[in-house]
Amino acid sequence: MTSFLILALVAGLAPAVDQCVQCTDAALCQAHLSAQSAAAKALKPKLRGGAPADRVEALQGLARLSGEHSSVPSAEIAEMVASALGDESLPVRAEAAKLLAIDLHPEVAVRSLVKALDEVRGEIGKLGFGGGGGRFGPPTDEDEKDPKVAERRKLREETMSFARAVVDGLGKLPDDRCVESLADLLRQLTRRTGGELIEPVAQGLLNLESRPAIEALVQKIKAAGTGGGDAGGRWGPDTTGKTLHDLLTKAVAARGLSETPAWSTKDPPDWDKWFARNQKQFPAKLGKYDLAKMRKLRA
Ligand SMILES: [Zn+2]
Repeated sequence: MTSFLILALVAGLAPAVDQCVQCTDAALCQAHLSAQSAAAKALKPKLRGGAPADRVEALQGLARLSGEHSSVPSAEIAEMVASALGDESLPVRAEAAKLLAIDLHPEVAVRSLVKALDEVRGEIGKLGFGGGGGRFGPPTDEDEKDPKVAERRKLREETMSFARAVVDGLGKLPDDRCVESLADLLRQLTRRTGGELIEPVAQGLLNLESRPAIEALVQKIKAAGTGGGDAGGRWGPDTTGKTLHDLLTKAVAARGLSETPAWSTKDPPDWDKWFARNQKQFPAKLGKYDLAKMRKLRA
């Protein structure tokens, strides 16, 4: 009977998951589970072989399968998508990161994206800005004509897009491990090493809104200073401190908290004092983002 139902499901003859009387909010019935698993396995060859565009399509197909019953995301499928975080093509990896953070199994998503950020952090440090001779600094007119520079720049752009997808994903998953991972990256980033990630990382931390998330921002604003000491050269003034200060001011105002320090070009704003007074407004811990928490947040 069960095998007949699986065949019927694959052929589209049996009831859909949301109309099945045996599937519940916490689990799929055996027949639907087997059908889902079989359909996922059928996508495996496409995920391994084929062009990058085919692999992206296979990943999207997997996410659709897992999402058929949104309160019971499949850990098996999430693991298949997570394995594409190591794909040789960076755009394929970026798609996997994006899909993991939307609707896939929360525990697999947190674990795999934290690991991916840890790995890509090392690569970001080595990238430079794609200038000639591997030196740091924006490319010159000479560099523009060099095919090696173009290649390096493409690698840089793709690595950054992937890192950005991982960062955006972590900012959507309310779990202390995601806060820790983003806070570590924020400490490491300077505008010379992945400066374009500073704002997305800060935004992710603001979305997560735990006490350590806010504290990481406060510390980075302090470390970045006013930018006045580094005003020369082709880099121009460093606006990191001001950018983070503005983001934090806006987020804090949206929560109805007041008495934020003002920006000054002379001294960094005193967010330490503000944080000491207001830290209790933010949860000390988020806990783990697991299935129970995911269902609660969606309800
Ligand atoms: Zn069912």
